[in-house]
Amino acid sequence: MTEHRDVVIIGGGHNGLTAAAYLAKAGLDVQVLERLDVLGGAAISAEAFAGVDARLSRYSYLVSLLPQRIIDDLGLEIALAPRRYSSYTPVPGGSGGLLVDNHDLAATAQSFAAIGAASDAEAWQRFYAGTEALARVLFPTVTDPLLTRSEARAAVVAAAEAAGIDGAALWDALIEQPVGRTIADTFQNDLVRGVVYTDALIGTFASNDDESLLANRCFLYHVIGGGTGDWNVPVGGMGAVSGELERAARLAGATLTTGAEVLALTAGAGRAGDADRIVRWRDDAGVERATRAEHVLVNCSPHELARLLAAGDAGGASAADIDESAGLAVPPAEGAQVKVNLLLKRLPRLRDESLDPAAAFGGTFHINETFSQLQRAYDEAAAGEVPSMVPAEIYCHSLTDPTILGPELRASGAQTLTVFALHVPDRLLTEATNDAMRERLQRAVLDSLDSVLAEPVESLLVTDANGQPCVETKTTRDLEHGLRLPGGSIFHGDLAWPWAEDDEPLDTPARRWGVDTGLPGVLLCGSGARRGGAVSGIAGHNAAMAVLESR
Ligand SMILES: Cc1cc2nc3c(=O)[nH]c(=O)nc-3n(C[C@H](O)[C@H](O)[C@H](O)COP(=O)(O)OP(=O)(O)OC[C@H]3O[C@@H](n4cnc5c(N)ncnc54)[C@H](O)[C@@H]3O)c2cc1C
Repeated sequence: MTEHRDVVIIGGGHNGLTAAAYLAKAGLDVQVLERLDVLGGAAISAEAFAGVDARLSRYSYLVSLLPQRIIDDLGLEIALAPRRYSSYTPVPGGSGGLLVDNHDLAATAQSFAAIGAASDAEAWQRFYAGTEALARVLFPTVTDPLLTRSEARAAVVAAAEAAGIDGAALWDALIEQPVGRTIADTFQNDLVRGVVYTDALIGTFASNDDESLLANRCFLYHVIGGGTGDWNVPVGGMGAVSGELERAARLAGATLTTGAEVLALTAGAGRAGDADRIVRWRDDAGVERATRAEHVLVNCSPHELARLLAAGDAGGASAADIDESAGLAVPPAEGAQVKVNLLLKRLPRLRDESLDPAAAFGGTFHINETFSQLQRAYDEAAAGEVPSMVPAEIYCHSLTDPTILGPELRASGAQTLTVFALHVPDRLLTEATNDAMRERLQRAVLDSLDSVLAEPVESLLVTDANGQPCVETKTTRDLEHGLRLPGGSIFHGDLAWPWAEDDEPLDTPARRWGVDTGLPGVLLCGSGARRGGAVSGIAGHNAAMAVLESR
């Protein structure tokens, strides 16, 4: 039996929920089909440890790119807490470190001087004044139809000039030439260079001199959020963000179905007819169903879409057809990170005893991420080896927002730690080696942490109800299995510039909004869309706008 909906959304990640909320509010009959039992995709909280009252942001953990427009339009009650400290980076093998305190410029300048990088303090202020000028112009455009490259450049140059910055030079430095080269030209100190460059590597496997400019695109998304580039803590954990989007979608009347695995999609002008697409799916009782929809929004990755189309033998549409369509990154996607969640009895003591651990862990704590360490780790991984010292960044959610811990844990002084380790590309793992590699990578990450601590981090782990230590590690393979992230890529594939190339056709709503798949009535509404990467709701918003514009 075939049901009918105005819109079917494949996947109930936070972007699928965002699209559902907008479209249901506009009066459309919307159904979200999510294969897992929970909604939110990579933006969830979970009780990761048996019998332990701690709800960790299991995958994504900080928010920068969620526009206020979406929060206001959907009436979301989301609290995002700023962090006082931007970052702390210990000097590898040394005793001091660089502490960037957002509230105290003088103390920050002193910290630069203490690690022998006095001249970089001023360069730092100038550099980030430039990224802020960029952010102020580009971020408000992400919920509008795409600018062209020339329009984006003209807007950036004008805004920078108004702020007394050489706009053409700024554009070249951050957009046209490898950002690693810009960073090496701008800063003298190896550690400072590394701290700045990490923003180009979160979710991206790239060398320090990445001619492909993939690192530039990654960098850009990490510095434009909110018009400031600040990364904030979602109060209540990442599940609170998706929870609000779920509430908004339900309130607007969308049907949200979990345990619903989409099996195939028939689209295009073939068997389904011009106006409709057919989504075949299996419900949580194992019953196969078919839903005919005027619009299909694809919250899963473009890779998963290609698989579903192949399974639907979509009126001639094949993976190759969508491969050729505008802006769709179906060719290889590869994550290059390992995520480790820990629950500790208290914060660890640092090698640098002069620093309060609450300051060090209060922002992003960079470990073994100097510029030369990043390049070494990249070279080793590119040669097929696990890096000898895995670069990693840590963040402590519970310091800024203790509400994710139950009262007893909170009173005990327990703290969560999230580790996001870089330069561990999926190519180092196979299905057969995944379990062994998970153990090996966990060990490598803990060793990297221990290199800057005064005590082994494992000695501080809380134990769960089964007597097991509270540590959870997710490899790229685990992300592919759990969330269908292709190759464990946290953004569903490579990030694209947040504008259209000058010669790109922008003749349909889908193309104008950066959500085109090349198939009529089938739009991307997830991380794989233009401007879709990260917890932002932008892809969901933009897909919804394209649907409304096309009706
Ligand atoms: C470890 C990790 C850390 C990250 N850290 C951050 C961070 O701190 N800040 C940040 O902004 N971003 C971060 N990201 C990226 C961010 O989480 C993602 O870009 C974002 O969550 C993508 O949301 P989405 O709704 O587009 O897709 P997803 O969250 O991937 O949701 C897609 C949904 O589709 C479902 N699905 C797939 N196939 C099918 C099918 N056949 N049938 C039915 N359902 C299907 C999946 O189960 C999933 O629920 C991180 C990602 C990871 C993995």
